[in-house]
Amino acid sequence: MDRYDLIMIGGGISGSAMAIVMARAGHRVLVLERSEQFEDQVRGEWIAPWGVAEVQRLGLYDLLMGAGGHHLTHHITYDEALNPDVAEAAPLPLGMFLPNVPGPLCIGHPKHCQTLFDEAVRCGAEALRGVNVVSVITGSEPTVTYELDGVTHTASARLIVGADGRNSMVREAAAITLNADRPHHMFGGMLVEGVSGWDDHIQAIGTEGEFAFLAFPQGDGKVRVYGSYSLDERSRFSGPDGPQRFLESFRVNCSPRNRHIADGRPAGPLRSYANNDTWTDVPFAQGAVLVGDAAGWNDPIIGLGLSITYRDVRMVSDLLLRSQDWSPALLEPYAEERTERMRRLRFVAKIQSSLDAEFGDQARMRRHSYFERAARDPMLGLHAFAVMGGPEAAPPETFTAAYRERVLGVEA
Ligand SMILES: Cc1cc2nc3c(=O)[nH]c(=O)nc-3n(C[C@H](O)[C@H](O)[C@H](O)COP(=O)(O)OP(=O)(O)OC[C@H]3O[C@@H](n4cnc5c(N)ncnc54)[C@H](O)[C@@H]3O)c2cc1C
Repeated sequence: MDRYDLIMIGGGISGSAMAIVMARAGHRVLVLERSEQFEDQVRGEWIAPWGVAEVQRLGLYDLLMGAGGHHLTHHITYDEALNPDVAEAAPLPLGMFLPNVPGPLCIGHPKHCQTLFDEAVRCGAEALRGVNVVSVITGSEPTVTYELDGVTHTASARLIVGADGRNSMVREAAAITLNADRPHHMFGGMLVEGVSGWDDHIQAIGTEGEFAFLAFPQGDGKVRVYGSYSLDERSRFSGPDGPQRFLESFRVNCSPRNRHIADGRPAGPLRSYANNDTWTDVPFAQGAVLVGDAAGWNDPIIGLGLSITYRDVRMVSDLLLRSQDWSPALLEPYAEERTERMRRLRFVAKIQSSLDAEFGDQARMRRHSYFERAARDPMLGLHAFAVMGGPEAAPPETFTAAYRERVLGVEA
């Protein structure tokens, strides 16, 4: 039986990033990735400034920039309650949140995964693709049984890393409970190409009618777009003409520039999710640790899954590199920090979902009232500061019922 220091189940962002850091430090690492190639699954392509800082701390920034990483520098919020000329006259500069971070970083998800996977190999990790993991046994002698090219292998490790996403089999093998709240809204996403006329460095969000949009340019006329809509309309964009109808939804009065998106072409699949938050109380067990989505995810409406993932990788690898003894107690600071981090981000996602992804007259009046009050009182934007600068960048009182009530007003 082959023996490793770490076996990563999953070679996406979390598994490959963790493999790079641990292989660079001289550990023997095996990465087992199910897919034959990384495809557009409509996953994260926007890294918040605080996530970029995590990428920098991990020593991966130059790698991502070399692979086509693209910074956004300004943000515009459109809304049916706002005049677009006024909104466009004062775009929010995105380089103001952290020193040495010019703004959020965008990079295509398949390219991002492949770049990290290749770098893990270059750093000495053994990385296998097209693998079928048959069983994972955690505990004092962690082992993994997997099939590759019709041959069954068993390998053991000091630690198994669950980097296998939302439906993590490592989480199940380690009997770690996934807590989940109820979905709040539907969230569809698609890559659009041929978008001429949209500034490559400006991101935008906005709500009009029964649709809330987000647009993140990737460079070269490509824009990753998302749309939130009601849970009651789950199949709003299903069927062969769903992608075209999705694009048409971007043609809104509050953002005349959106016509450039609507006139673009689908450059990948349209996928829709029922957005919610999940979390684990303790993201490790004897012989196993969970990172990234496997450990619980934040509602993608605030786009922080990659930042969370990079923070996980940095925290877990720092702890492992600090000690020879990898018993579970070593990982307790990770559990403690992640619990509070996810509590704060869950709180922010709920505020943002209530503001942006609820529809109808009452919701519109609430947004209108919020915009008016926030223009006079910048302290009503602290939750957005947590999205950009990180969950610890906003003061603790941001994450309280009193703050939520101030943002959402009496109707909340
Ligand atoms: C619609 C949507 C939009 C999003 N937008 C953003 C955004 O703009 N910004 C952001 O920061 N985050 C965003 N996210 C979240 C982000 O995509 C995830 O948090 C991130 O991809 C998590 O990375 P991961 O490596 O933990 O998991 P995943 O990306 O799910 O990768 C898991 C990997 O493990 C492999 N795998 C799974 N099971 C097995 C197995 N049994 N054996 C071997 N391999 C296995 C998979 O093939 C995959 O490669 C979004 C998510 C969604 C759903």
